[in-house]
Amino acid sequence: MQTETVGDGTPDLAVVACLHGDEQCGKSAIGNLLAERPVLDRAVQFVVANEAAIAANVRFVDEDLNRAFPGNPDGDTYESRLAAELLAELRDRRVLDLHSTHSHPVPFALVDGLDETRRNLVRATGLDRVVDIGHIPGGLISHVAGVAVECGYVGTATAERNAERVLRNFLGATGALDVPFDESDPEVYRVMGVAAGREYEFVGRNFERVEAGETFASRDGDELQADEPFYPVLMSTEGYDEMVGFCAERLGRLSEVS
Ligand SMILES: [Zn+2]
Repeated sequence: MQTETVGDGTPDLAVVACLHGDEQCGKSAIGNLLAERPVLDRAVQFVVANEAAIAANVRFVDEDLNRAFPGNPDGDTYESRLAAELLAELRDRRVLDLHSTHSHPVPFALVDGLDETRRNLVRATGLDRVVDIGHIPGGLISHVAGVAVECGYVGTATAERNAERVLRNFLGATGALDVPFDESDPEVYRVMGVAAGREYEFVGRNFERVEAGETFASRDGDELQADEPFYPVLMSTEGYDEMVGFCAERLGRLSEVS
């Protein structure tokens, strides 16, 4: 783990990149920002997490770091030990966790629950969609007060630009960096379950409603159809080994959702 704190005092904000080693948009965004030697009005910790996976340009070395929390300092895997180390650093911080995806080109936020702290973190991203993934907890944002952002397709310049835009907006909105920012009122989606299955081709579109009976994935003539209407979230052909992605409901604007 590579970590650098900028600004005076003990940070209560942290920006995390590369929980997944092949998702390097957040690392670029942090690198570009810090290269400007910014003057921050409050302390922020910048963390590049999975250095071994970055070096190998793979998602993880032994196991998915974002499924390894809370981890174990004496764990059997590199990621188990790293998860414990990360959580010890980040436990008391409000966290922005930057990712990229195989599922959707437009950035969106992910949270575990919608308490006031998380609502404020979501607004600070400036993004117009947020997914409450609290139904399937386990990632870093289930262990800290945090918001994750999927910045766009893995390995693209667009994802890097999006990550940098979100990072600067977030630091502006949280009073760390003196820049213009937007505080958004995003559309809220809540994950209800997973669409399980290996090697399916996803034939729908994320955030576009699938009607009951509609086919959303197929594999050699075998089709997955919706029992109930839902909105696909993080669904893709390549994204996961064991599932197509998540099924969500749409709840309305954040300001209207209790
Ligand atoms: Zn990721």
